[in-house]
Amino acid sequence: MPKIGNPRLSKDIPCERCHSKRKVGKKWTEKIKNASGFMVLEHIQIVCTNKECQLEFERKLVEEEIKREKIKEGRNAGRNTTSPQASK
Ligand SMILES: [Zn+2]
Repeated sequence: MPKIGNPRLSKDIPCERCHSKRKVGKKWTEKIKNASGFMVLEHIQIVCTNKECQLEFERKLVEEEIKREKIKEGRNAGRNTTSPQASK
């Protein structure tokens, strides 16, 4: 589950892996449609100033993404099909 609108800016907290300073790497906004129209989500990506540490971190993110995709695929394959869940 992606964290949405985390109010705490973790850029002021040193990296827990290498204890280097961190900085804001990327900022972007996302418009999400909801019941009352649109909601703008602000995303901030905090990166470690230690390049090697950051690269390692990104590699792990990608690995996790791949794992998640695989789990999804497994579900969609529908070996043991369960009744579809009623949404809301
Ligand atoms: Zn680091």
